[in-house]
Amino acid sequence: MQNIVKNTTFPNLFDLLMPHSCRGCGQIGTVLCERCKLYIKTNHQAVCPHCKSPTESGKCSNCPALPPIYVIGERSGLLGNIVHDYKYKSIRALARPLAELMHEFLPPQDTPAVIVPLPTIDKHVRSRGFDHIKLIAKHLAKLKAPNCTSRQLLIRTNNTTQVGTDRATRILQATNAYNIASYATIDPQATYILLDDVWTTGASMHACIKILQQAGVSKIILALLTLSRLD
Ligand SMILES: [Zn+2]
Ligand SMILES: [Zn+2]
Repeated sequence: MQNIVKNTTFPNLFDLLMPHSCRGCGQIGTVLCERCKLYIKTNHQAVCPHCKSPTESGKCSNCPALPPIYVIGERSGLLGNIVHDYKYKSIRALARPLAELMHEFLPPQDTPAVIVPLPTIDKHVRSRGFDHIKLIAKHLAKLKAPNCTSRQLLIRTNNTTQVGTDRATRILQATNAYNIASYATIDPQATYILLDDVWTTGASMHACIKILQQAGVSKIILALLTLSRLD
């Protein structure tokens, strides 16, 4: 009988046995070498995910209702491959360089800030063996120390995956998919940095912004690893 191993879990073992190699050039000993990281930095696209207009400051003049948005780049090429390997091949070591890239594009934080990872579906956390957004949030909080912490303030109320569904369905699903955690305390003076790996329709982010605002948060920043497009 043929063994069927889900390819989202099998490469874990491969990566444990093999030394890390750069996802861009293959250099051994690192998952992302400095030269390839620089390549991603120089290909940085500071655009609003909604209207695609440039937004170096993170604030979009066409979409004033949205909090400031900071994105590393489009989910394609090297950055797309890295996010794919991190999510679907469970290469945890990619969390650090992804957090470093995100850190580069976020504004310096002089006042208290809380990084809030968007909660991942339990099933996906189990199959990866870790919560991929939470791990980046932890690295990012260290990089932004001493004013910054990361806290899982949001929880999922259902475990419906959004992959492959259309825009209207995604928005409907996201509206009821999240809630504030019962243990959450809000500092009205702090900036809350909502962190996610990909912006497709923005439905999840919109739902989470609303929940945080209802809980008393006034200052929100959006931090996204990548922008994607629905086919
Ligand atoms: Zn490289
Ligand atoms: Zn915009």
